[in-house]
Amino acid sequence: MARLAEKTTSSENQPAVSNTVISFNDVAKEYDKGIPAVNHINFQIERGEFVFIVGESGSGKSTLIKLMLREIKPTKGKIIINGRDLNKLKKWQIAKYRRKIGVVFQNYRLLTDRTVYENVAFAQRVIEASPEQIKKATPRMLAQVGLSAKTKSFPGELSGGEQQRVAIARALINNPVILLADEPTGNLDQKNTDEIMNLLLDINKHGTTVIIVTHDHEMVKRLKKRVITVRNGFIVSDHKAADGKAPDLDDIEEEIRREAEEEDNKSGDEMAIDYIDVFDNNDYDE
Ligand code: ADP
Ligand code: MG
Repeated sequence: MARLAEKTTSSENQPAVSNTVISFNDVAKEYDKGIPAVNHINFQIERGEFVFIVGESGSGKSTLIKLMLREIKPTKGKIIINGRDLNKLKKWQIAKYRRKIGVVFQNYRLLTDRTVYENVAFAQRVIEASPEQIKKATPRMLAQVGLSAKTKSFPGELSGGEQQRVAIARALINNPVILLADEPTGNLDQKNTDEIMNLLLDINKHGTTVIIVTHDHEMVKRLKKRVITVRNGFIVSDHKAADGKAPDLDDIEEEIRREAEEEDNKSGDEMAIDYIDVFDNNDYDE
């Protein structure tokens, strides 16, 4: 297959174009000196992939997301995303870089005093889209996430699933190349979880690279996508869903079962610490 593709490219006399959209090269992050939260992180993600990142609480999943957002810088190693070396981004370039990265969190993070429409329109105002563009794009985006009937509602008047759909609409409105979701269904019941996952799959089908951090083992098993497993700051497995076929599910299942057990054995204190979302701390460690 690969050989065939190469041949086609050369016969058409086109330069070989890399499809890698995210690349981590021996990345480590220490929040406190000498204690790596993640270490020796190596992976590549291709344009258009759908990837789960799983692992118990405290294993470093959110740290990976924050590194990709350039909310934090690695202590060591190199991260290339969408052709940019994140270590070399100047402060003024960071906002522009982030326009290409949509992000969704467990706790939605909507503007509670603005309507659904305003929450989505706001993301376009930030990038100085024209009023005409905003008027056109906002209703279209809200229709895509199934919220046309709720445009005038405030977040507090919506269900959790609906609020997350607003957050997804806001993340997608500026056509990002990558959508990062950190436990996007963590606060949702099964029905809403399924709806949000179907929406994310649909978004991926339209070409956006989607990366989802989750604890939902059942969902990961069911969807048969690529699964990167993180434990104690290390990637311990990376199962590719090649050609849409299932990865070796027995292996993953065993791994996931072990993780769930470890999770069950945690103390209340550990759980409480996990629950305090590190994203609330929004400084960019410049
Ligand atoms: P996960 O998202 O998998 O639960 P995190 O990436 O949030 O894991 O955390 C990985 C490790 O880094 C944990 O040990 C956590 O306590 C630590 N950590 C995360 N954020 C900070 C921070 N801002 N300062 C110090 N330690 C942190
Ligand atoms: Mg986390």
